[in-house]
Amino acid sequence: MAAEQHDIIVIGSGFGGATLAARLVAAGARVTLLERGPWRDTDAIRAASIAGRAPLPAGKHFFSHALRRVSASWLPGGQINLHHDGLFDLHYDRQLSMLCSSGVGGGSHVYSAMNVRPVDGYWNGHHDNVCSESLAPHYDWILKQMGSRTAASSSALIPNNIVTDSRRPVWMNVAGVRQPEMGFRFGDGSFSNNSFFGSQDNSKVTLDERLLLPLLERGLNVRDRHEVRDICQTEQGFRLVVMDHKHNRMHTLLARRVVLAAGTLNTLRLLFASRARGSLNGMPALGLGIGGNGDVPAYWACNESGRDYSLGTPCHGRFALDNDATDLTRYGLNGVDCIPMPPTLRARLKRDLVLVGMGADSADGIARWQNGKLSLQYRQQNSPVLADIYRAFDRISALSGKKVYFLRSRPITVHPFGGVRLGQNSASSVISARGEVHDIPGLFVADGSALPAAPGVPPSMTIAAWAGHVAAQLSSSSSSSQQEVA
Ligand SMILES: Cc1cc2nc3c(=O)[nH]c(=O)nc-3n(C[C@H](O)[C@H](O)[C@H](O)COP(=O)(O)OP(=O)(O)OC[C@H]3O[C@@H](n4cnc5c(N)ncnc54)[C@H](O)[C@@H]3O)c2cc1C
Repeated sequence: MAAEQHDIIVIGSGFGGATLAARLVAAGARVTLLERGPWRDTDAIRAASIAGRAPLPAGKHFFSHALRRVSASWLPGGQINLHHDGLFDLHYDRQLSMLCSSGVGGGSHVYSAMNVRPVDGYWNGHHDNVCSESLAPHYDWILKQMGSRTAASSSALIPNNIVTDSRRPVWMNVAGVRQPEMGFRFGDGSFSNNSFFGSQDNSKVTLDERLLLPLLERGLNVRDRHEVRDICQTEQGFRLVVMDHKHNRMHTLLARRVVLAAGTLNTLRLLFASRARGSLNGMPALGLGIGGNGDVPAYWACNESGRDYSLGTPCHGRFALDNDATDLTRYGLNGVDCIPMPPTLRARLKRDLVLVGMGADSADGIARWQNGKLSLQYRQQNSPVLADIYRAFDRISALSGKKVYFLRSRPITVHPFGGVRLGQNSASSVISARGEVHDIPGLFVADGSALPAAPGVPPSMTIAAWAGHVAAQLSSSSSSSQQEVA
């Protein structure tokens, strides 16, 4: 059987892939979107009668559908595949572990809905043809699509909001701290179970319903449970080897142009594995510039009597200690009702908090591929922001008299970036200002792996803005090649 021919194939449907596909389809392009995970069984997707929906991990589905894959370089074969409809991938590495998700809509199901722009000038100085000013309209577009606004802009009474919390300790300073905009429908929902395990009542705005569903009618071809295993460069473009998990068989698809948006970890895997097989060549800087965005998650066993911190928006808001500039965010264990467990343990978890510190790390990690396994080199001492956050957490333990637990020597991030970074030339970077791999014309990158530096804030809007920029480059080259043909 002849392989199907496509014009543009996008791999992955998270902040990069969904944004890019939406913008290309709006510009009239024919796009096929391949997503290894399923459509999730949320209200909006159910209402649209999408077939083959998979549950979010909750109740009896929690243990079967929480994890898709665990990987580590010391595991035989490098990974254990648990359930192809699982929500999370965990990559364990001594120097930097990473958590990411799977499903149509990518990270928007599991993220805490903070929609934040990076510091002014973030995009300046990495490539002559890319700057913060040129990316600004792409931030505006995605923030509008997500309906992003701060909790303060809503008239709803939001449980546990950090600004209005009358029992907030005096040292937890919110004055002058900028609160995040959120892609969240304040006011309509239950303010519970809307976070890391998905949004049970649709309060969180996710990319599948917001960007992708409306485009199905306009010709966007979304193939869920289709996992790309190999990308091979050919004379006419690319040949993709794809595992169809619905029918448990391999396909071959051909495309003139391919956009990688499989998320930092999985884009790196695909490029390394394809190069190791000889399907792709070049990319001498592949794997350089990895970072964890200074993430340090912590568990604060504050056991505050009479509180149910699990209620509220996915995060309660940001705070600082005195004049310390360290960026700290407070969360309850929103979603704990989805997990089967003894009631006493659940009640206890609701009285505790999660804290996350974040900031720009030095983005100097290196990913390597050896014997079919990914390993990461990341020296945390190169990033002083991590030590600042550790100090802040130690201070919170001292100030509150309640222990803050965190992994001081095992960094873990939910915001991995880099490795396929933007830059001026192929010696130090992988992609050009168009988002195209320097030495592989027609292959583009539009996800977290493309970022040239740590945003230092939650990165989803920065990834989506980059994807919007890449879509504009692709659209303009399509229209100029059509004019040439005409
Ligand atoms: C618990 C958690 C909380 C977070 N909170 C926030 C937050 O509040 N604000 C924020 O800005 N960011 C947050 N993030 C980070 C944010 O989710 C990511 O930065 C963002 O989703 C990355 O976008 P992406 O397009 O690079 O990849 P993703 O959104 O991860 O999308 C990649 C998609 O590609 C698919 N894929 C992977 N491999 C293949 C393959 N081989 N074939 C086909 N498909 C494939 C994956 O299944 C996935 O759906 C959070 C992340 C986590 C895990």
